[in-house]
Amino acid sequence: MHELVGALRTYAWGSRTALAQLCGRPVPSAHPEAELWFGAHPADPAHIRVDGLQQSLLELVRADPQHELGAVAPTFGGRLPFLLKILAAEEPLSLQAHPSAKQAQAGFERENLARVPLDSPMRNYRDENHKPELVVALERFEALAGFRPPLRTVALLRALGVERLNPYADLLAAQPDSAGLRTLFTTWITLPQTALAAMLPKVLDGCVRYLAEKSEPNSGAKEFAAEARTTLELAEAYPGDAGVLAALLLNRITLQPGQGLFLSAGNLHAYLRGVGVEIMANSDNVLRGGLTPKHVDVPELLRVLDFEPNELPIVEAEPVDHTLDGSCSLRYRTPAPEFALRRFELAAGAVPVPIPRSGPGILLCTSGAVRLLQGADELRIAAGTAAWISAGDTVVHAAATGGPAQLFCACVGEL
Ligand SMILES: [Zn+2]
Repeated sequence: MHELVGALRTYAWGSRTALAQLCGRPVPSAHPEAELWFGAHPADPAHIRVDGLQQSLLELVRADPQHELGAVAPTFGGRLPFLLKILAAEEPLSLQAHPSAKQAQAGFERENLARVPLDSPMRNYRDENHKPELVVALERFEALAGFRPPLRTVALLRALGVERLNPYADLLAAQPDSAGLRTLFTTWITLPQTALAAMLPKVLDGCVRYLAEKSEPNSGAKEFAAEARTTLELAEAYPGDAGVLAALLLNRITLQPGQGLFLSAGNLHAYLRGVGVEIMANSDNVLRGGLTPKHVDVPELLRVLDFEPNELPIVEAEPVDHTLDGSCSLRYRTPAPEFALRRFELAAGAVPVPIPRSGPGILLCTSGAVRLLQGADELRIAAGTAAWISAGDTVVHAAATGGPAQLFCACVGEL
């Protein structure tokens, strides 16, 4: 096992406090810090530290895939199949979806034939892989994901009391299914700029009015308050963007710490705010529909989107094991073959617990500090740092040092 130092990504939507605080660095940071990558992605691999020297995890895996990845090496073309991140969003990220494996293969080939350079910002498909992803909240985490059941969306549109929305609400009420959602989403996301400029201010006025209206006595919080506030926030960050309208069709999700959100192929989503641990298949294939200065390709997005309305795709942590002295392990179940994620809550002073894994693993500490033990070897990692465990390594045990600690274990999923 080796200490693994993450690669810090600074994007405008990042936070000047969240990652620095988590890692114990001074705040505010010099730049908005968005993501800390722990993986062997060619764009920004993490580095292992050996005897004070750093080596890229990508090079380490390439040099000896059999030892580093073990039996799964041929299945994933000799590459580490997952990428683990800590993500800190201060502002909304783009409205996006990821293709299925089949769509990614076809799209990659199509763009190769059209000779779109691999590093072109116009490129949709940078590889042939799908990109299932799971985000686990470390604090309250807000997101939009998946289409809301249509009749609830009709109720939301009517609640805003905007005349210009009535024909759209009627349309969806008449066809409250995936076909109705496809029609409405397609109409909105392709609205000419002039129509959009006429309609958006009315919708925003409706949101302001809705939030200002007194709710009925004893009726509790307003039903769509979060949705109305999010619409206003998105419009402020991306004025005149069709994605603001489209976002009205999505489930507004708040994850509590420890809860996960799984995004399968075709699920339209946008992260809004929060800090989380994210794990995904090692791919860059993103199709964007708006709320971003990056490349947007609406026709291609429409081709991969899954319009089937769903309830919230929330993944609860499943307790797997616990010790008498208060440590426990929890699992996040997803269908992705590329990754599996477990969380360990390590109690102060508790005995070391074994960390089960199949093949290679990345152990990431997200609070407190952890002592990792492997035979006679010992490695200490603090919040914001990780350890790389080769497939060839024997079992690793983990214990909190000092106060309680939290540790995530990422490894390859069950094939
Ligand atoms: Zn995504």
